[in-house]
Amino acid sequence: MKSIQRVALVTGSTSGIGRAIAVHLAKQGFAVAFHSRTSVEAGQKLAKMYEHCSYTRADLSDQEQCKTLINSVLAQHGRLDVLVNNAGINAMIPHGNLKQANAQIWRDLYEVNVIAPWTLITEAQEALTQASSEKCPGSIINVSSHAGIRPKGASIPYAASKAALNHMTKLLALNLGPDIRVNAIAPGLVNTPMTQNWDFAQQLWQQKSPMKRGAEPADIAHIASMLIENQYITGEVLLVDGGLNLT
Ligand code: NAD
Repeated sequence: MKSIQRVALVTGSTSGIGRAIAVHLAKQGFAVAFHSRTSVEAGQKLAKMYEHCSYTRADLSDQEQCKTLINSVLAQHGRLDVLVNNAGINAMIPHGNLKQANAQIWRDLYEVNVIAPWTLITEAQEALTQASSEKCPGSIINVSSHAGIRPKGASIPYAASKAALNHMTKLLALNLGPDIRVNAIAPGLVNTPMTQNWDFAQQLWQQKSPMKRGAEPADIAHIASMLIENQYITGEVLLVDGGLNLT
């Protein structure tokens, strides 16, 4: 009997953590829907490299485009088994500089880091439920941050947006089971384009963390794959920081 090919949408999957997760899943046999806001050429190239994959462009700060993204993935693949909400934005603001963290910055961060995952999950719920079975429920993974767990991070609005995403993860896990499992990954420092100039953080991880380095995107992809393949875990926010927060 021919087995069904599972479909995974990974947002923000032409660079960094999202790219690593999407490529890992494609290599494991998923039909991956790659997505980005601007890197169309890179997305199309990735989709061509792996069988049955696709690419869709959408700006997730626009909730209408979030809806269109899910519709487009369903139109191309016919089902959805896994949704990885990876796309996110950051703002570097010293925590004591309250005025710089103005209302517009809060809105921008919430739009992409909190409301977009919510809209995508809302639009994908029916398809994830339809694709789920007792042995293999649908799976949602939200890429959060250790800054959403501990009072730290690039700025207070960023940390608060990730804390909101963590709490949303738990509330949704309570409500969407047993058809859909919902978990979050909370990385510490990961070596991606977003963090390439973060010398202070690089030094901190190399000197203080038990693992003596920041994570590579592949480390996070491996965790995502574990959370997708374990059919029981739900409502967890998994801290993946090489042990830094123990210090
Ligand atoms: P990255 O800049 O390589 O990736 C971010 C992705 O989000 C990009 O593909 C970008 O296009 C996409 N994105 C941003 N705004 C978008 C929008 N409006 N519409 C559509 N897509 C949009 O950075 P990364 O480090 O790989 O970050 C991925 C996720 O991991 C983010 O949610 C980030 O907050 C989180 N994170 C990263 C680190 C780290 O150290 N790199 C640590 C903790 C959490």
